[in-house]
Amino acid sequence: MEYIVEPAKQIKVCADVDVCVIGGSCTGVFAAIRAARLGAKVAIVEKQNCFGGVATNGLVNIWHSLYDIGNKNQIIAGLTEEMIERLKTVDGVYVDLKSPTHAYYLNTEELKIELDNVIKENRIIPFLHTFYSFVITDDKKITSVLIENKDGRSAIRAKFFIDATGDGDVARDLHINSYQHDQVQPPSACFYLQGKIKNSDLADMILHHGSEVGLDDDWGWSGPLVNSELTLRVDNHVFNVLCNNAMDLTLSEMEGRRQMRALVTLLKKYGYPSEKYNLISSCSHIGIRETIHYETNFKANEMDLLCGTKYEDAVLNGTYRVDIHHGDQNGITFKDLTGKMVTYYGKRNKKIVGNWREDLSLTGDYATYYQLPFANIVGKEYENFIAVGRMIHADASSFGALRVMVNLNQLGEAAGVAAYLAIDGDVALQKLQGKHVRNMLRKGGSAL
Ligand SMILES: Cc1cc2nc3c(=O)[nH]c(=O)nc-3n(C[C@H](O)[C@H](O)[C@H](O)COP(=O)(O)OP(=O)(O)OC[C@H]3O[C@@H](n4cnc5c(N)ncnc54)[C@H](O)[C@@H]3O)c2cc1C
Repeated sequence: MEYIVEPAKQIKVCADVDVCVIGGSCTGVFAAIRAARLGAKVAIVEKQNCFGGVATNGLVNIWHSLYDIGNKNQIIAGLTEEMIERLKTVDGVYVDLKSPTHAYYLNTEELKIELDNVIKENRIIPFLHTFYSFVITDDKKITSVLIENKDGRSAIRAKFFIDATGDGDVARDLHINSYQHDQVQPPSACFYLQGKIKNSDLADMILHHGSEVGLDDDWGWSGPLVNSELTLRVDNHVFNVLCNNAMDLTLSEMEGRRQMRALVTLLKKYGYPSEKYNLISSCSHIGIRETIHYETNFKANEMDLLCGTKYEDAVLNGTYRVDIHHGDQNGITFKDLTGKMVTYYGKRNKKIVGNWREDLSLTGDYATYYQLPFANIVGKEYENFIAVGRMIHADASSFGALRVMVNLNQLGEAAGVAAYLAIDGDVALQKLQGKHVRNMLRKGGSAL
């Protein structure tokens, strides 16, 4: 590798705030709102043209249930519920409470606008089209981050920093211990399709004719769009890539778009003659499920999650099942809290069903929801820094459940509250009482 030397120069400070959030998915936005509502001055940096992350730029429109298994008690509320209520007022969400896992189908375009609105209402300083590029530290504290946008390079100074970039770009530059799972869940490029097709017919089509257009038999899904004839398609994956790497990310975007056209070509040739198939809109960012994870004081693990271990300083309640997309014969594995376990290989290839509770000879009632303690978002080294989102410290299986948005939204909220409390008490993050964070979350509307 050859290097050049970048000449030193003075960088202007474009914002001086209490909390700086880097990355503007709902994880980041909800962190920003929580801190702002408690009185902090907050800035948020997002590299795309809107907030929402995978839920908007990736077109992924499903938020899972806010209730426990059996739909008896509401276990998730806070800003997730608030956003759903806001979307209801603009016809921006379709609610399906009968489905055990898919509960809320969002209009991702309306979500973009609602996120703009909450940012404005809470007087958060927004930076769109702005890329985080470097972090500056003084011993165990971060003092500022460098950003790049149309104004060139500038700095944001803050008392506390939250990395909600998904990949953990700030954590990477801080050299926090990291690791990668043996099988990294592959990305998918989502798109809106005009023209109806039954999933079972599409599966047959791919099995018999997919090779004509370069499509593997792959496990995928689709979802309805609010008040629309269009369908969200998530049929394929790009395998063997790690999307926090610039070249893999570039090639994944291009391969993802190739797959979209291949699917539409297949439908035009073998789909229903009565339907007009068209590719209407492609994601503006490939949906990344997983890259790297960063260590904190608590690693989430499969058994605690599936058995529903409870914590007095819990900052997350969840029910979403373990859901692991894997490269092994283009498969997916689900494990429910009830014990049910199934692996599909491709859309049609084969299916293996089991029960993990029976395998472990577990008797008694199954857990109706799981929790995660505050220590999961507390790092070991930096006093004024939290990384929150899909870079979560978790084994591969628990990550499969925790990675969904209704879960990460809650961790974002916890990060925002913790940032405020650390500033307000003038203490290091590591000195905060998790129970105190939990109480503040509850006061702000969480169902913990
Ligand atoms: C195809 C697919 C389908 C899925 N299906 C579902 C589903 O149905 N329901 C569900 O709940 N979950 C689903 N998930 C999982 C879920 O969407 C993600 O795990 C979750 O959105 C990750 O949230 P995050 O905040 O960690 O990261 P992201 O949503 O990736 O957000 C990170 C944000 O940071 C910004 N950013 C990154 N780097 C920088 C930088 N250097 N400077 C500035 N900004 C930066 C990004 O632009 C982005 O807005 C799916 C994921 C994928 C990929």
